[in-house]
Amino acid sequence: MHQLYPQVMHNYRYELNKDMHIAAAHFIPHEAAGSCANVHGHTYIVNVTVAGDELDESGFLVNFQTLKQLVHRKLDHTLLNDHADWFDSRDPNRFPTSEVVARTIYETIQRYLDTLPHKPKCLQVFVRETPTSYVVYRPKAGER
Ligand SMILES: [Zn+2]
Repeated sequence: MHQLYPQVMHNYRYELNKDMHIAAAHFIPHEAAGSCANVHGHTYIVNVTVAGDELDESGFLVNFQTLKQLVHRKLDHTLLNDHADWFDSRDPNRFPTSEVVARTIYETIQRYLDTLPHKPKCLQVFVRETPTSYVVYRPKAGER
């Protein structure tokens, strides 16, 4: 599926984007969520943008496979609410909404990128939950 994604302005030499499709269930543990408080599923379309000025010893900004392992391998065919290290039904900042999914993907990827000597940066995470609804998470300028 071809998607158009919002662009991030930056001055890095390299920009890489990784698409992932994730089949997963979730529920939003709050009365304001209406029918979304019931367990239901989505095929999430995720796009992760990573940028940097330098490549690693294998000529990669970051390995596409590693990005997939960090996100797709963890979440695909799971109930998102079950991941207690990512989500928490007592804290609205950690309910498995698209917003929190996007931010948590950012945090997970950036934590990994911070371990690399050439210090790539995750600039944007796009999460499409349905054909008509998506979220974009970008770190604030001071957090990059
Ligand atoms: Zn949903």
